[in-house]
Amino acid sequence: MDLGIRGKKAIVCAASKGLGRGCAEALAREGVDVTICARGAEALNATAKELGVTGVKVTPVVCDVTTEEGRKALLAACPNPDILVNNAGGPPPGDFKNFSLDDWRKAVEGNMITPIALTHATVYGMMERGFGRIVNITSQSVKAPIAALELSNGARMGLTGAVAVLARKASRNNVTINGILPGPFDTDRLRGTSRKMAEARGVAQSVIDGERKASIPAGRFGTPAEFGAVVAFLCSQHAGFITGQNILIDGGSYPGAL
Ligand code: NAP
Repeated sequence: MDLGIRGKKAIVCAASKGLGRGCAEALAREGVDVTICARGAEALNATAKELGVTGVKVTPVVCDVTTEEGRKALLAACPNPDILVNNAGGPPPGDFKNFSLDDWRKAVEGNMITPIALTHATVYGMMERGFGRIVNITSQSVKAPIAALELSNGARMGLTGAVAVLARKASRNNVTINGILPGPFDTDRLRGTSRKMAEARGVAQSVIDGERKASIPAGRFGTPAEFGAVVAFLCSQHAGFITGQNILIDGGSYPGAL
C-alpha cells in the first residue's frame, strides 16, 4: 500500500534507538523527510546515516527534548512538520512513598508537558495546511496502570486526557492525534529492566526474558520495526478518520490472564 506521504516532513523525537527509531525508519521508507533527535550525538548521527540510505533528507538534532532549549532546536530544524511523533525516555520505576515532588515534576515535564508543547507549536500550522498527523508514544499503562511505574502512569494518563478534545477539533482540518500504547518491545529500555530484574533475583537474564515472554499471549516481545509500521500507517493519507484513539500494541496482553 502506498501511504501517500512521500515528500512530507516529520519530526520524530527520541529516535536514535528503540521505538522512536522504528518510527523514523518506517516513515523514511515511505519517502518522508525526517528530523530526529536524541541527547547522545554518536548514536544519533549513526542512525541518521543509516536512515539516509532511503534517499530522504535526514536531519539529526542533538538535544534533550524535555527542555525548552531542546524543543526550540528541534523546531528550528523543522518549523512546519506535517507529522509529529512525540517520544522521550520514560520516568524511572519506584514507589509513591519515595517520590519527591521534583520526581513528579520531571516525569510530567518529560512525558506530558513536552509533547503538549510540541503539539501546541505545530498543530495549528497543520490545521491551516489541511494535513497533519500527531502520534504520542505513551504506554500500555494508559489502559492498565503498571505497579512499579507510578510516575509514568500519571504523566501518560495526563497527556492522554490533555489532547483528547484537541484531537476531535483538529480532525475537521484533516489533522489527527492518536496515542500508541506499547506493551513490551525489544529495545534497550526493556533489556535494561530485564537486566535489573535478573540481578535482583540472582538469575540469568534469559530466565527473566523467558518468563516475560511467557506472560504475553503472542509469546514474544514486539519489535521496533512493527511498531514503526503501525505509526507510519497512522501518519498516512489513509488514516484521516482515526483520531483521539489510544491504540494498544501489546501482543494480546491486555486485559490480563484469560
Ligand atoms: P530506548 O530503547 O531506551 O530508546 C530511547 C531513545 O530516546 C534513545 O534514542 C534515547 O537517546 C532517546 N531519548 C531518551 N530521552 C531523551 C530526551 N530527553 N531527549 C531526546 N532523546 C531522548 O527506549 P524505548 O524502549 O524506545 O522507549 C521509548 C518510550 O516508550 C519511553 O518513554 C518508554 O518508557 C516507552 N515505552 C517503552 C516500552 C518498551 O517495551 N520498550 C513499553 C512501554 C513504554 P539518548 O539517550 O541518547 O537521548
